[in-house]
Amino acid sequence: MWRFAAGSMRGGLRNASSDSSTVCDMAKGARSSRDATIDFRMLRRAYLARVHAGDVPHHDACDASTDLVRAAKHYGTQRRASCPLCGQQDLRNVTYLFGPRLPRSGRCITNSRQLHEVGSRPERFVGYVVEVCIGCRWNHLLSANPYGGRGSRSRERSRLRRRA
Ligand SMILES: [Zn+2]
Repeated sequence: MWRFAAGSMRGGLRNASSDSSTVCDMAKGARSSRDATIDFRMLRRAYLARVHAGDVPHHDACDASTDLVRAAKHYGTQRRASCPLCGQQDLRNVTYLFGPRLPRSGRCITNSRQLHEVGSRPERFVGYVVEVCIGCRWNHLLSANPYGGRGSRSRERSRLRRRA
């Protein structure tokens, strides 16, 4: 998880198309932690510090793919904060969902109803929220959020109730 996060992940989903297995590994890691949301803000701060210090070139930090920028533009949630690199008010959050019967590179969430729907499913899903700047193409993973697993939990509860 941290190896992936600190190494190949860096700026979020940039590796989703070139190396989707790493994102899937990450999804597995997140799933194993069950219902916990994983917050990547500290990693983001550390990465930004490296960019500001000149250890990471801007073109490496601002390398959102055309698909990611397009997804952010059309389906992303507008942020009030300005971009940490270019200072423009073009920052959006876009969510990619990973789980059973979804593409290996995840499915871009186009409206909040989709997350609500998978939330009530028995299968477990992980939604990765990525921050993307439309202006300079800065991008970074913000959090990994669990969805679904509903049926299994209620079945477990009823089994426990039967035992009691
Ligand atoms: Zn920017």
